[in-house]
Amino acid sequence: MKIICVGRNYAAHAAELNNDLPTEPLIFLKPDTAILRNGKPFYHPDFSDNIHHEIELVLKIGRNGRHIQPEFAASYITHIGLGIDFTARDLQDKLKKAGQPWELAKGFDHSAVLGDFVEVDHFKDFRNINFGLKKNGEWVQRGNTRDLIFSFESVICYVSKFFTLKVGDYIFTGTPEGVSKIAQGDLLEGFLEEQSLLTCAVK
Ligand code: MG
Repeated sequence: MKIICVGRNYAAHAAELNNDLPTEPLIFLKPDTAILRNGKPFYHPDFSDNIHHEIELVLKIGRNGRHIQPEFAASYITHIGLGIDFTARDLQDKLKKAGQPWELAKGFDHSAVLGDFVEVDHFKDFRNINFGLKKNGEWVQRGNTRDLIFSFESVICYVSKFFTLKVGDYIFTGTPEGVSKIAQGDLLEGFLEEQSLLTCAVK
């Protein structure tokens, strides 16, 4: 099982971090040890003083495939859910400046929080899904998939040119604006439409 992530897939989030808009999907991976299942607390590691929450819609892959064509891409998704792509922003800034890979800033233990998933048939339109994150009861991130730069389908096509998709893989599809630093004592709660599908306490 692998976790594939898309960076800078919402323009307003790319702008808040002063990044240019990508012309092709920006892809990185997290190892399976990054997964933190719904309900478990996140223990703040001491190698970073600036870990950001990034709430994201996550696709669960239900078929093996490579070189997937656009008209078949949707059939590879069995569920859509919520995840948090925890990012050690201070470390990432350092790595970016040095032109080095992001793994340490993105793939550390428990940096991929997974909430509950909803069957894909429940979704009428992949380009109109509302989701968001509350921190300590206040909205901090709100997004809608109409603002995606690269659609779910185009991400699946692009990624499958390089990596064979396998049953059980996850794709984190990018975060909207509003990322911010987490602190011990915070409670994060993710929403897909009106449904609360993810909670994570920071300890
Ligand atoms: Mg992200």
